Amino acid sequence: MRTRAIGMAMGLAVLLSVTAAFAQTSQPRVLLFFSLNVEADHMLFATDAIRFFAEAADKHDFRVEATSNWADMNEENLKQYRLIVCLNNLPPAAQQEAFQRYMESGGAWLGFHFAGFNMGNSRWTWFRQFLGGAAFGASSWPPLPARLVVDDPESPVTRGIPKAFLSPVNEWYSWRPSPRLDKNVRVLLSLDPTQFPLGIKGMITQKDPDVPVVWTNTNFKMLYMNIGHGDKIFTNPIQNRLVENGLLWLLEKN
Ligand code: ZN
Repeated sequence: MRTRAIGMAMGLAVLLSVTAAFAQTSQPRVLLFFSLNVEADHMLFATDAIRFFAEAADKHDFRVEATSNWADMNEENLKQYRLIVCLNNLPPAAQQEAFQRYMESGGAWLGFHFAGFNMGNSRWTWFRQFLGGAAFGASSWPPLPARLVVDDPESPVTRGIPKAFLSPVNEWYSWRPSPRLDKNVRVLLSLDPTQFPLGIKGMITQKDPDVPVVWTNTNFKMLYMNIGHGDKIFTNPIQNRLVENGLLWLLEKN
């Protein structure tokens, strides 16, 4: 399963770079980063996400490329991109400085699920602050659907999204502390706490009463979405719209 997913992702990445070479230069460019040496479910998500972004690029007139080579995250190369997306990992140590500089120079970032995973004691303290102080708390296991509620209906990211909806099967993380406590953070959606405890082997409980799922740190052009585990993420049109809205917002197209 994992080998198949990796093969598909690499095939798509090659296809995307070929497509990109023929595209108009005036279109904004988006670069997707993914890691191959990750949990199979995180690779399955990346594979689906690459396809989703390729379709969105056709529809909304931007260029998208995908790479699993993190060395592409260097200052010179990043200058070409309006938005970078981390599908299933955060930048490795050697690329963290380039990432930080890109974000501090007005670059845009969209991170999914494991791309926000950090422990409270991780050495990259800048990244934790970037995420609004959030470090991993607990996770629900096995993966399961969850009810999300919209916290900020005014944001272009939540436009057209109902006040509450059932998000497809995912592994859900809680955060300690909740990023909502950071005054620079705007939480856009969170887990509905009435469904806690959420999970069986691993649980999110009332110990973490506030669990943001999608948020932005207003000091940056960034958006984090905790969705990104397994091959069901793009099976819900409401949630697909949410991802598309987020992407267009970061590209300043909505
Ligand atoms: Zn996961």
